[in-house]
Amino acid sequence: MRTSVVIIGSGFAGLGMAIQLTESGRDDFVVLEKADSLGGTWRDNTYPGCACDVQSHLYSFSFAPNPDWTRMFARQDEIRGYLDGLADRYRLRNRIRFGVTVTGAEYDEATRGWTVHTASGDTLEARHVVWGTGALHEPSVPEIDGLERFAGTVFHSAHWDHRHDLHGRRVAVIGTGASAIQFVPPVAEQAAAVTLFQRTPPWILPKFDRPISSVERWVFRTFPAVQRAYRASIYARLEGRVLGFLNPKLMSGLEVLARAHIRRGIADPALRAAVTPDYTLGCKRILISNDYYPALARDNVSVVTDDVVRVTERGVVTADGVEHPVDTIIFGTGFKVADAFTTLAITGRGGVKLTDAWRGGQEAYLGTTVAGFPNLFLLVGPNTGLSHSSMVYMIESQVAYVLDCLRLIDRDGGRAIDTRPERQDAFNEELHEKLAGGVWQQGGCRSWYLDENGVNRTLWPGFTFDFRRQTRHADPTAHEILA
Ligand code: NAP
Repeated sequence: MRTSVVIIGSGFAGLGMAIQLTESGRDDFVVLEKADSLGGTWRDNTYPGCACDVQSHLYSFSFAPNPDWTRMFARQDEIRGYLDGLADRYRLRNRIRFGVTVTGAEYDEATRGWTVHTASGDTLEARHVVWGTGALHEPSVPEIDGLERFAGTVFHSAHWDHRHDLHGRRVAVIGTGASAIQFVPPVAEQAAAVTLFQRTPPWILPKFDRPISSVERWVFRTFPAVQRAYRASIYARLEGRVLGFLNPKLMSGLEVLARAHIRRGIADPALRAAVTPDYTLGCKRILISNDYYPALARDNVSVVTDDVVRVTERGVVTADGVEHPVDTIIFGTGFKVADAFTTLAITGRGGVKLTDAWRGGQEAYLGTTVAGFPNLFLLVGPNTGLSHSSMVYMIESQVAYVLDCLRLIDRDGGRAIDTRPERQDAFNEELHEKLAGGVWQQGGCRSWYLDENGVNRTLWPGFTFDFRRQTRHADPTAHEILA
């Protein structure tokens, strides 16, 4: 099969790209999706309590506002419904090939195009490849001695086992990140006992969530300008937090709030101490929840801070030698972020593999293009992640950039666009200088934002409007057009 653009993934990134290609009159594309339905992370994560921690009026496409969000922070099924609705509205379903797992792609210098390989052995020829798989799709399950011998049920939060009834169970939860703090409260309501294994406590702020009334929804539907203004007000509020991330000292005010939140939710001084972080707020993702601390204070929930060292047939053993008897283990241990792109066999100019180009660490130009890999575009690529606002905003910026790259190729009558390595280097030098002073590096924690060398390869260190400004147009001087 031959096409102009292959898009990989049908989550927010892949769909956003597909929609904007259609809108710009470029109909020659196909979306490859490994699963049998669309939605990306919002299809995979179905754990109880799963919801977005960014307000839905901002966590949605600006070109497809939804006046009907029923809550400030929509739940998973509503967000998935939004994405499904987009696929129908923009007639994308027949563009998506489901059940196709991409294993790699190689650039051909002669044709200035890509051959995309799939797990079934098929290949596709495409001029451009847009990788829209993001970094949070491959669940990470730690290698714990004896796990294979466990006689009970084991699953990861991103592959929730809905057939496994938790009523009356003794459940171990490993991990206390963004996912776990959402599913621990509903699990604690069902299970007989929950033992929560915490390696590092997260900072948690109150969640200002509430239903959006039918009157408000009517106003948003009837007066789109009101909805746009509301979205802008959320955007501005979140953007203000950037200052704190770049100047860690400013985080102390929010830490006071977070400590008060712990005191409100938990009465026991020992438990309060156990869940109070010892690093600067913002170093890891700031979480929001109103029901997590009260859940930890329940009689049937215990928090264990000793390291997990082993699993036996009947339980989890910690470093102090105690065996905690459980019949279910749920991993809320996050995703293989560092491997997001590097497990794929992507080969660029001169037969250079992306893994080799990135031996010193993942780097791209504006998080989107990589020197030596013409016509390859990474959505949610290196250093485009956010810890303060909506990723959908970043995705829209990147999509606009990709479209402008395609325009630049057309304008110059070329077949491919590459990035000048010196511009990519200069871009990353400036970016990492900025990151070095930020809370992610200075805050005294270890997070998945940092690679094995302690370098932040995931986050955009600044205002998102700055990223938007830089991605508005593809700078011809930063690129080489190949005839
Ligand atoms: P995560 O934030 O990476 O949290 C993983 C948790 O597992 C951490 O508490 C970590 O402890 C712990 N852990 C990892 N390996 C462990 C081990 N070997 N032994 C003990 N504990 C271990 O993962 P996540 O909660 O799935 O969230 C991932 C990302 O998804 C988030 O940061 C966020 O970007 C996104 N997310 C977003 C939402 C949303 O509402 N928008 C919701 C869920 C997730 P350490 O802290 O010590 O490493």
